Amino acid sequence: MKKSSASKKTAANTETGANTETGANTETGANTETGARTETAANTGKAASAGAGSGGKAAAKKTSAAKKAGAAKKTPAATKAATGQRSAAGQKTAKKTAAKKAAAKKTAPLKRQAPAKKPAVAPKKATAAVKGVAPAKTVTPASPRGESRTALVRRARRINRELAEVYPYAHPELDFENPFQLVVATVLSAQTTDLRVNQTTPALFAKYPTPEDLAAAVPEEVEEILRPTGFFRAKTRSVIGLSKALVEDFGGEVPGRLEDLVKLPGVGRKTAFVVLGNAYGRPGITVDTHFQRLVRRWRWTEETDPDKIEAAVGALFPKSDWTDLSHHVIWHGRRICHARKPACGACPIAPLCPAYGEGETDPEKAEKLLKYEKGGFPGQRLKPPQAYLDAGGKPAPPLGAG
Ligand code: SF4
Repeated sequence: MKKSSASKKTAANTETGANTETGANTETGANTETGARTETAANTGKAASAGAGSGGKAAAKKTSAAKKAGAAKKTPAATKAATGQRSAAGQKTAKKTAAKKAAAKKTAPLKRQAPAKKPAVAPKKATAAVKGVAPAKTVTPASPRGESRTALVRRARRINRELAEVYPYAHPELDFENPFQLVVATVLSAQTTDLRVNQTTPALFAKYPTPEDLAAAVPEEVEEILRPTGFFRAKTRSVIGLSKALVEDFGGEVPGRLEDLVKLPGVGRKTAFVVLGNAYGRPGITVDTHFQRLVRRWRWTEETDPDKIEAAVGALFPKSDWTDLSHHVIWHGRRICHARKPACGACPIAPLCPAYGEGETDPEKAEKLLKYEKGGFPGQRLKPPQAYLDAGGKPAPPLGAG
């Protein structure tokens, strides 16, 4: 099933709780996408390293133990050798010095040989391999070790094709009716869920339907409306500042060019691509926290910087796939391949995934980890695209339903 053009136009965003890019940031500072990305990267780093964390510590202990053992064994040996030399030389001062030098020479290389960082990697790989193979009697994890560029491109595109079948109705999960609402909703989506934003924006846009209205708003009144989204003071500053910039610099219209969008307060590349891809139909890759986590799990790239991830992944796909690819990846991250407990046992792309086994592999237990419509629960949009409803998707609970 294909997404209708209406859904492509109207859909918007990406996730949220993860969707850190703009808004969220902190109450203290300017709401910049970069700041949020930093936070996202840090979080992701934590998540990504979670599996390796214990292995890393174990390796550190091992290294330290190895150093101690090495020192304990080698030092007496060296001393013994030095003593032997001294006896043989009849305790001549010159030879004593030579023996000391020899002992020193022996000891020095030992210190240098002590493995510093390499062992930190091994346990991680070993753990991953054990986890991946042991419970996975029916799935053989993909092994991209030594994977050629061509093979990587094929595997990446196949994953996207599989995900397109799993999520034929994937769409942005923020409700919006025009580019202004989309850019504001995307800014508000940082550090909260799209559902929360969708439950908040109707009141905001009812009171301030245009950039001119929001630019002239009393901040305290906007803060009260945005309070449920968290970081409401910073978000209020962002959306009012954004609206003022739209009025002063772009005639009250949201620009349709990347270079203009990123000049708006609180708008970085991620938000810009959400707007371009979903309000203007221009291809863009949305690198949110889910996207970062998943493409690294799939070993599409080892990059950690969002801009570099965007470039690396973009090079694996034709431009025309970029927007839908973003939706597929983000939807998979929200529904199945979670940060802490990926539901590997219920994952349709497990045979293509080198990280299979990082999460629960028992099918029954994995099934219980599924979220949103995959887990039988409502989605996040109050006004979802028709294609989603036609495919059996469940809209979010109505406002006030809790
Ligand atoms: S859920 Fe597991 S198998 Fe599926 S993509 Fe995520 S890590 Fe890979």
